[in-house]
Amino acid sequence: MQKTAHIIGAGISGLSAAVRLVNAGYDVHVHEATQQAGGRCRSYFDAATDLMIDNGNHLLLSGNRHALAYAASIGTEAGLVGPKRAQFPFVDLTTGQRWQLDLGDSRLPLWVFDEGRRVPDTGLFDYLALMPLIWASPAKLVGKAIPCEGTLYDRLVQPLLLAALNVDPPEGSAGLAGAVVRETLLAGGQACRPLIARDGLSAVLVEPAIKLLQGKGATIRFGHELREFGMSAGRVDALKFGDDTITVGPDDAVVLAVPPRPASSLLPGLKTPSKFRAIVNAHFRFDPPRDAPAILGVVGGLVEWLFAFPQRLSVTISNGDRLVDMPREELAQAIWRDVRTAAGVEGELPPWQIVRERRATFEATPEQNALRPGPVTNWKNLFLAGDWTDTGLPATIEGSVRSGDRAADLVLAGRLA
Ligand SMILES: Cc1cc2nc3c(=O)[nH]c(=O)nc-3n(C[C@H](O)[C@H](O)[C@H](O)COP(=O)(O)OP(=O)(O)OC[C@H]3O[C@@H](n4cnc5c(N)ncnc54)[C@H](O)[C@@H]3O)c2cc1C
Repeated sequence: MQKTAHIIGAGISGLSAAVRLVNAGYDVHVHEATQQAGGRCRSYFDAATDLMIDNGNHLLLSGNRHALAYAASIGTEAGLVGPKRAQFPFVDLTTGQRWQLDLGDSRLPLWVFDEGRRVPDTGLFDYLALMPLIWASPAKLVGKAIPCEGTLYDRLVQPLLLAALNVDPPEGSAGLAGAVVRETLLAGGQACRPLIARDGLSAVLVEPAIKLLQGKGATIRFGHELREFGMSAGRVDALKFGDDTITVGPDDAVVLAVPPRPASSLLPGLKTPSKFRAIVNAHFRFDPPRDAPAILGVVGGLVEWLFAFPQRLSVTISNGDRLVDMPREELAQAIWRDVRTAAGVEGELPPWQIVRERRATFEATPEQNALRPGPVTNWKNLFLAGDWTDTGLPATIEGSVRSGDRAADLVLAGRLA
């Protein structure tokens, strides 16, 4: 008899679990509270710019192997595009200096030995000083593991770790930072090619998954918010959605793939991260110069990364809590000033949109990292997924997919017995 799995939440974690289970022959039912799949990784039509935009610019690296395998499983790996070599152009807004970090295409970080490819004004010993990060404990602070000052820090380590951890790097978990460094910088240029969903997050990472699921007979119900679990004899036996209740049979499995706050209210007593950080994105309707790089690292200003899309320049600012209450127009003007300098363009503020995701990620500090639960719960047929579960990585698409795959694998391994 075909086994059934209910997936609660249609973010990337839930979708990756659902795809894995439907491919393994399960009868899959996805329940999503909102009217749209994708969660924190989604696209929508924005009237202010008259463009389809993403809630936030999402950068993947070619070393994100679970994320790439997920994209391949839904047929959209080719939709993640980037340069052939791991090259990262940067500009420093305070000095006007521009440089390119060239990590090459090797499986080893050979670029650190080549002065021409390193960050300007840095030496080999600056890179060796980062070694303690590689195997650091998650309980250690980045600021206690490596020097958080100097040229290499300002021009590479700070931008990289700020983007990965979404906290000011010295207060971040050295273990989480180390995992990122091991899987990217230390794995050489072949693991560091920047990849973006040029046609939009939903078109590349979300809608094809929904299509595949539906094509294989899965159901996806939107506006179907789980309000309560029914539990008995150590198992989930009912899913209560307000207007309707679904019985969960003895052989059925449930994957809970919702953010920490709903997870902890659905499962009282569950330990979850409780502090979050914002990410601010600004989108400007403006044709990028023809030679604009797809991604430009920006230091010495408000803007951190500048993305060039067709008809749109778009900006990411991590650890953005200081900006969430700033008047929108003032913020748009301030960001546009940086964009003009960084992109070398002129003009008054074009049509714009600011998207402030207040709880973009859990706080990747040692304290909050210690609150991340694993996938197994006290209920035999209930498994957890989500970027905030204990994946060993910060809150990223790669971590989300890993968590979804892991929950699905536990279901498949018959942990229900
Ligand atoms: C602005 C921004 C920029 C980012 N940039 C990057 C980046 O560059 N690179 C990168 O790798 N990652 C990035 N991330 C992180 C990445 O988006 C997340 O790690 C990932 O999307 C989390 O997926 P998830 O499925 O774990 O959670 P979510 O996306 O939060 O999905 C959970 C889903 O559960 C649903 N739900 C909640 N409660 C219920 C309920 N009771 N019943 C049913 N459904 C429910 C929600 O509506 C949601 O759809 C960024 C995030 C943001 C916000």
